[in-house]
Order: sequence, then C-alpha cells, then structure tokens
Amino acid sequence: MVDDTPSERPDVVRVAVPIPLTAPLEYRLNESRTRVAPGTRVRVPLGRRRLIGIVVDVGVCSSLPRKELRSIEKVLDTQPLLSPSIVALIHWCARYYHHPIGEIFAVALPAKFRRVDSADNANRGLAWRIAAGVDAQTAKLLTNAPRQLTLFEWLAGLKHPATRAEINRVFTRPMASLRALEKKGIVERTAANDGVETGHATAHAPTLTHDQRHALNTLGMQTTGFHASLIEGVTGSGKTELYFARMAAELTAGRQILYLVPEIGLTRQMIERILARFDAKLAILHSRRTEAGRAAAWQAAIDGRADIVLGTRSAVFTPMPRLGLIVVDESHDESYKQQEGFRYHARDVALKRAHDSDVPIYLGSATPGLSTWHHARTGRYQHIALRTRAGANPQPSIERIDIRSRPLDGGLSPPVLSHLQRHLTDGGQILVFINRRGYAPALGCHACGWTAPCEHCDAAMTLYKRGSSLVCHHCGAQAVPPKQCPSCNARKLTAFGAGTQRVADTLAKHFPDYQLARFDRDAVAAAGELDARLNAVARGDTRILVGTQMLAKGHDFANLTGVAIVGADGGLFSADYRATEQLAQLITQVSGRAGRGASPGQVWIQTRHPDHPFFKMLFNGGYPAFAEAELANRRAAGLPPFGWLALIRADSRGYTEGETLLAQAAAQLAATAVVECWGPAPAPMQRRAGRVRSQLLLRSSERRTLHKCLDKLRHWLVSNTNTHRVRWSLDIDPVSLF
Ligand code: ADP
Ligand code: ZN
Ligand code: ZN
Repeated sequence: MVDDTPSERPDVVRVAVPIPLTAPLEYRLNESRTRVAPGTRVRVPLGRRRLIGIVVDVGVCSSLPRKELRSIEKVLDTQPLLSPSIVALIHWCARYYHHPIGEIFAVALPAKFRRVDSADNANRGLAWRIAAGVDAQTAKLLTNAPRQLTLFEWLAGLKHPATRAEINRVFTRPMASLRALEKKGIVERTAANDGVETGHATAHAPTLTHDQRHALNTLGMQTTGFHASLIEGVTGSGKTELYFARMAAELTAGRQILYLVPEIGLTRQMIERILARFDAKLAILHSRRTEAGRAAAWQAAIDGRADIVLGTRSAVFTPMPRLGLIVVDESHDESYKQQEGFRYHARDVALKRAHDSDVPIYLGSATPGLSTWHHARTGRYQHIALRTRAGANPQPSIERIDIRSRPLDGGLSPPVLSHLQRHLTDGGQILVFINRRGYAPALGCHACGWTAPCEHCDAAMTLYKRGSSLVCHHCGAQAVPPKQCPSCNARKLTAFGAGTQRVADTLAKHFPDYQLARFDRDAVAAAGELDARLNAVARGDTRILVGTQMLAKGHDFANLTGVAIVGADGGLFSADYRATEQLAQLITQVSGRAGRGASPGQVWIQTRHPDHPFFKMLFNGGYPAFAEAELANRRAAGLPPFGWLALIRADSRGYTEGETLLAQAAAQLAATAVVECWGPAPAPMQRRAGRVRSQLLLRSSERRTLHKCLDKLRHWLVSNTNTHRVRWSLDIDPVSLF
C-alpha cells in the first residue's frame, strides 16, 4: 500500500479555513488538475458545509491514508489571490500571535472574496454621478425640491460616482429623488468606480523648512532597502510633508505606497490632501466601505493599478506587487491594535512586512509609543525629530485649572467657561475634550450612595437623553431610569459627572449664539457625517466643538484657539501600567489642536490634582521628558519594552470555571518556571455581558522564551477545553490589561 505511507505528494495541499481550528486541513487535488500555488482560494467541503479556504502549503507530507482525504471541490483563482510575501506574512502572524491561520486570512481578505456565493462573480454594480455639463447653477432649478437638492449637493461634493449602498448610508429612501434627478438629466448612471480615485496635482509642495530639509537628508531619500524611521514631531510640525516628499520619489520610481492611518484619521480632508498633491491612483480601504468598494480597491492594489493604498488596520495585509514604502501615521494610536479575535498590532505587522519586503517604513507621531521611542533612542530605528511647528506659531500655553473647591456647571468650571467665552468673543473656535459619551457616566442616589448598575456587567450604566434612558457601554443593555432610589426610596436621583451630551448642553446654555457640534460615536455614526461636521468646522460655521478621542488626532482646525480638557484625572490613578502613557499622549495630542492657524492657542486642563508629578513632568519637559522618565520606570519593573507580556483571558457563565482553567494552565507553566506568571485573577471588570472574566498575565525578559511557553500553553488549552463552558483567548503584547 504505497498510497498510505506518509510522503510528499504534489496532490495533497493544506488549506486554511476560516473556523477556529489550530491547523490548516489537508485536502486532495484531483489528478486532472494543474498544480495550485499557496495563496489560491479553493472551495472545500467540511462536514456538510462548503467553505472558501486558502491554500497555504502544497505537496505536503500527509499522515492520512489517501482515501480519508476529501477532495477540493473547486479552485477559484487562476492566479493566487495572495502573493507569496503576504502568505508568508500571514504564516508569521499565525506563529507570533499563536492564532489559527484560517481566521487571519479572514481578516486579511475583504469579505467579498471569502463568500461562497460571490467568489466567482465580480459584480461591479452601478453608480450615479452628476451628468457632464451640469454646474452649480443647477441648484437654482431645485429650490422647490429640497430632497433632490440635498442629494444633488452631496453628489456634487463627492469626487467619485456613488454606489447605491453609499447613497443609502447617507440618505433614507433616496431612490425616488435620484430617479427624478436622472430624468431631469442632472444625474447620470455609470459603472461603479474601478476601485481607485485619481489624483490631480494642483497643490504644490511647500518650500521645506530648514528642519524638514535636514530631516529629509537624514532619512536618506536615496537609500533603499529596509530601514525603520521614527518621525517624531509635534502636531503641525510638517511630518506629513516629509512622507509626501518620499512618496513623490517612490511614485516617480514606479513603486507603490502603503499608507496606514488610525480608524478616525481617515477623513475626506486627508484623502483630498493626497489627491491634490499627486497625479496618482489612490485605493482606499477601511471597514466602513461597502463590501464591493473594498473588494474593488483591494483588486486595484493587487493589479498594481493603485499607486497609493490608504487604509486602516487591516489594510496592512493588502498585496502590492510594487511596494516601495510603508507609512504608519499617528503610529502610537491604539486603533492599530485589534482588540478581539485575531489580536494583532498593525504597526508591528507593518514593521515585519517592511523588513521582509526590504522597503523603508516611516512611523510618524507627535507622541510615539514608548516602545517605538525606546527603539529610536537605542538606534534600532532612525530618530527624526521636528520640534518646531512648520508655520511660525509657537506651541500653545497649557494651564491647570484646580477644581477641588469649585462647583462645576454641567462638568465645566467657572474659570474655564470664562476663558472659553473670551476666545469666542475674540472670534476663535473652541474645543472641549471629554472622553465620555452620553449625558452622565452614572445615575445615583446622594442619600445612600446607590448607583444604577448594569444587570449583566460590573459597571454603572451611562445616562442618556438628559436623563430619560440608561445604556451600558460594555454590553449595550438599555433600561428606563427608576423614578426613586430602589435602595432607600429617596425621591431624588442625581446625574453624577458629565459626558459629551451634558457638556454640550452646558455650552449651548452659556453660548447660545454660536453653532455647536458634538463629535462622538453616538453623534457621528455614519461615515459621511464626520466629514460633514468637519467641513462645517473648516468653513468656520461651527464655533464650538465637543468631543471624545474622535477630536484628538490629525484634524487641522485653523481657527481653533482655545481647548479645554475635562475629566482626564482617571488616567493618573489607573491600575493599567500604560495609563500614564495614554494620558500623556492624549493631553499632548488634544493640546496640539490649539493655535494651528494665525492666533496662538491656549489649553486648560481641569483637574483635582494640579500638583501631581505627572503634570510637572509633562509641562516642564514635554512629551520627550515624560517618555524618558516613564521608560526608566518600565525598565525597573521589567515592563515593555524591557520585557514581553502575554495575557490569557478566560470567561464563563459561572464564577469558577474560567479561573479554574487558568489556574490549571498556570500549573503547567510552574513546572517550567521560565516565565513569570501573575494570576489567575479576576479581570478589572469581572462580569461583562453576563460572563465572568479572569486573566493570567505572563512576563518574560526573553521574547523567545515567552513564545515557547505560549506554544505549549496553547496546545494544552486546545486539548483541555473541549467544553463550551469556558472561552479563552491569547493576547500577545496586550495594549490594555482590561
Ligand atoms: P503634521 O503632519 O506634523 O501634523 P503637516 O505636514 O500636516 O504636519 O503640516 C502642518 C501644516 O503646516 C499643514 O497645513 C501644512 O500644509 C503646513 N506646512 C507643512 N510644511 C510646511 C512648509 N515647509 N511651509 C509651509 N507650510 C507647511
Ligand atoms: Zn438611595
Ligand atoms: Zn452591561
């Protein structure tokens, strides 16, 4: 029985399928078929299901008898969809993150390429655009048809034809208006775009400042091959101009650029800035795009039609045949780390990709993460610092406002309110930053201390709509607020603290004559909405901005002169070792919004701890001084970047199962005693969405040692949890211990 001896056979392939399994599965290729290469999609049977998988190995040495191998039903690509370098990158991710490779492919490939029903057809669909020859005057014809007018104006503002899905996301029931516009010859149908937007260089690059030219020399524009550079510069120092200079050179040389931005950084402003600078084709990839739009953009990148791929986190996996440069903008941003499922860090994957593709990578930030900072200081990355702003503007002044003995009005102190008033009167725009959505973070009773809890989580519910509803931010549960205290029957319940809604109400009450816009995930749900609001700010119509992180980064508000930061004290006392790093980044980033135009900026921080050493450090020496001091703490504690961490989380319905599993896992490790093991311990929020959570933190000063342990541990967990009662997950290099 020659057939049954394990040997390398060209007709046996390993296929990664998108289900939680450790290893790819083996299948047989029918003899009649030509060979397939790794990266090719195939349809395979699994049980009674049909799945789309990716071939990861060919000619494998199978341990199964031939008759037990099932056959591949269909080969879906004539050419591999994924290049060998992307397949290799995904293999590396599977090893480094100890994650099933099939699920990594599912993150890397746009959904359309993973669906059994649509894998064969590339239906490009229809789109609508303003008809040729129609100009702005047309708007006059539509004054009696307001719905058509809004649709017309939106389409006119869009630089590309809009697909039905795009239109439906912005308008409710738009088809009747659209047809009417079509009949009038104002709008015409076209094939949906081919995945790219085409830039027309209309804006010239500014004459670079002395600092920028010096930086470019250091970066070595001629140097090819892998090198990593940290481009550290305060907001507005002209980092983007440095990326652009290098990008121009790469485009001239015929190479592609992968440009990664954080979730919230990808705005129309950003896109327009690139389109106005380069005669290049731009493919845009982010999770809010339609399935078809993503697939088309991705296809354009693979075909080499797209010169620049601009995208968020998962765009790091886009195959690009002529890759010449990777830019990771705002590289400290936490949205680069996926926090569920395949928990990868796109910045780290980008570094690996640049290394293996032998191309340069630029990590830009005003507030580099401490690991990045450390690597730059020790010479692993080149360190380029732009410490002055490109325009003549000085950095804003920052003042602490002590609120210990002052009553707050809807979250704001009297001095802050009067400062804001002055800036409004002087014609400036103002921003109030508060990192809490909703009206108030809790509803409670002053008499007995009761606060409205979530039934499913160890957390207070957030009060919404000026007190008429309660929502849990951790599981989404909703409730109607009780009329009186369920604990002591007191008649009056109080909204504790303030969120964006309450602060917005307060500002509207004090400054009724100025237009206000709120920026948070509740107010800005749809993709187009953020752009619309930002445009109103850019035009100067909106004078008051209230918002969360959404406002912290990237956006350039020329006339913003006053910024207040409220409710930031929590970061001073958090148990998470990264909390002060996050707070320093946040304060520096938010402050950087002020005074980017002609007038100098002012920043006020409301705090109950004005004398905290953290503030002294940050204000006397800036972010660099903070980074050095905090790195010294990390070194002493053996924390990243001076040690490596992995977090194993488990959750279960009951209070014991998860923790028991982790205790057993920890016992496996105790025998080896080469990594430090903290826990198992209850998670900081023990109960969430009805599941009881616990965690085990592993630390080692040797990355390799830690990963060897994790291999063993994962193996043990896979073979010892064939029950559905406990779920577990591994988080390598966790950015949050919560
Ligand atoms: P960053 O990316 O560091 O925030 P940008 O590159 O976006 O900075 O530059 C901030 C602002 O300064 C932008 O409006 C940009 O057009 C302008 N700018 C940058 N470099 C120069 C320069 N050399 N001369 C004039 N303006 C510049
Ligand atoms: Zn009470
Ligand atoms: Zn909840």
